[in-house]
Amino acid sequence: MITPKVSTERKLVKIDKNGTKHWQVDACPKCGGTGVYWSRTDDMTCWRCGGTGYSPYIVKEYTPEHADVLAKKQRERGLKKNKERLPQEIKYRGFKDENSSIFIVAGNTYPIKKQLSEAGARFHSWYGWYFSDAKDAKDWDTTEIKFSDIYTINEYFTVVAKEGAGEIIEKAKQKTNSYKEVGA
Ligand SMILES: [Zn+2]
Repeated sequence: MITPKVSTERKLVKIDKNGTKHWQVDACPKCGGTGVYWSRTDDMTCWRCGGTGYSPYIVKEYTPEHADVLAKKQRERGLKKNKERLPQEIKYRGFKDENSSIFIVAGNTYPIKKQLSEAGARFHSWYGWYFSDAKDAKDWDTTEIKFSDIYTINEYFTVVAKEGAGEIIEKAKQKTNSYKEVGA
């Protein structure tokens, strides 16, 4: 155990208008004020304080009331961010918006994936091949799935899959009544 060169004590330097206590510690937090940093390399001089042990930092201590205010602000920022990202999240799932549909291609799509791609279909790890446009889908054996059939938007503005969505998608993918195997 090396004795710190610099005091590790907290000193109260300020109480601001929110009642937040600003504590200052002079000792470098990386080396605990010793100036020596135990690393695997040969250089044991603490890079943060340059070996002086002195690298002051502030620790803030919030009142419970102000901590609540900050937490609320942080939640609001998170919600705002989610809300802004929502249209992108919906598009990422193949839908134009929350009132639109996708058209999942039925049957064994593997042999026709090139044709599907050329026709404007896209592949999704969950839906398989699907169209986002009704007019592109009309010549193919598809099932229309509304956004609201499989997804919901929760109170945090996040898209979540509905219960039973997997079943709906599987049913759409496995519908084989009109698709004929190539060469059959
Ligand atoms: Zn240091």
